[in-house]
Amino acid sequence: MVSLNEQFLKLPESYLFSEIAGRVKAFKAAHPEAEVIRLGIGDVTKPLVPSVIKALRQAVEEMAESKTFRGYGPEQGYDFLRQTIIQKDFMPRGISLETDEVFISDGAKSDIGNITDMLSRENRIAVTDPVYPVYVDSNVMGGRAGELLENGQWSDIVYIPCTAENHFIPELPLVCPDVIYLCLPNNPTGMTLSKSELKKWVDYALENKILILFDAAYAAYIQEEDIPHSIYEIQGAKEVAIEFRSFSKTAGFTGLRCGYTVVPKALTIKMPHREQVSVNRLWNRRQCTKFNGTAYIVQRAAEAIYTEAGQKEIRGIIRYYMENARIIREGLKEAGFEIYGGVNAPYIWLKIPEGINSWAFFDRLLTECQVVGTPGIGFGPSGEGYFRLTAFADQTETRQAIQRIQEKAAGRF
Ligand code: PLP
Repeated sequence: MVSLNEQFLKLPESYLFSEIAGRVKAFKAAHPEAEVIRLGIGDVTKPLVPSVIKALRQAVEEMAESKTFRGYGPEQGYDFLRQTIIQKDFMPRGISLETDEVFISDGAKSDIGNITDMLSRENRIAVTDPVYPVYVDSNVMGGRAGELLENGQWSDIVYIPCTAENHFIPELPLVCPDVIYLCLPNNPTGMTLSKSELKKWVDYALENKILILFDAAYAAYIQEEDIPHSIYEIQGAKEVAIEFRSFSKTAGFTGLRCGYTVVPKALTIKMPHREQVSVNRLWNRRQCTKFNGTAYIVQRAAEAIYTEAGQKEIRGIIRYYMENARIIREGLKEAGFEIYGGVNAPYIWLKIPEGINSWAFFDRLLTECQVVGTPGIGFGPSGEGYFRLTAFADQTETRQAIQRIQEKAAGRF
């Protein structure tokens, strides 16, 4: 008789975005005339850029001819894209990689979730808190999280609080984990680490033989100088870190689906009674078994964002979203809020006034300003007391939303 992975049953229903949708729906039913502005979900709104569309069309034409048709591609991705990524994303930052250290995927979420296939159940996992929920939930499924406690934490996971008190800079944990997830620039706080701050983590990992899972899905949004775009800018990182990248927010690929993961060959792990094991070889084995590659036309589309025209186009869109971030940041500061993030990331993390929790703040913002955001508690226990707004909406709507908060809510939050 079939039995299920009971770890899956430990996961509570992911209620954050469905709860938000439910509350917005109820509000709209009661106030059909209300023009609700959504600054909640982290999805892009601008269409794909012309260079991407052109590459997609061309690739579709190739697929229509028997001479140029492509069937199964390499599980790891086509070399034309892997090599372009190395040349454009890494070489200019002084990082050399070999083609077979880059694995093309259908987006970062799958790889971030699937990477845990390689980890034994015994690993102690650490996450910064608040956190992109996939890191925690995929480890619950893998049996590494223990039990859900009343305070919202999982008993076996090490939580590293990132709050205004420590300027959202994670401190090295007292309990040494085996695996640590770092997301920089951070979703949801929008914060980044300097090179010297990130170096502390790499040195700590080297010293304690820890694996760092480095999520750089928002690297393209970094505006300030001297912020590392890749963990491999730090010496020694290739021995301890896997890096995940995504074209979703970089180039509007949330619907098209493409990303990549770097697994350096220098990353090896000593197992009892065995030689050092190459993580690159293991991941390659995993991908060849369970993944059949990203669509050819999508990989051609991803390649196109690295052309001169493609770069110009996607940078224009990132500028547009970052202008939204500025509008939100400065507008809310004027309205008296304490604001974080929004400088090197499309997320603004605001401190909620004392005496109200993040769901109550959500309701107030919805009913008084018809603006939707995301309650901080949805990202983990240390997210309580905070609220996330995103910079991905239409600019006119973004201005309207901030104006409403400034006018209608003045003095009341
Ligand atoms: N990592 C972070 C921190 C994210 O916020 C997201 C998406 O919102 C992802 C990864 C997933 O990206 P993708 O669309 O490539 O799966």
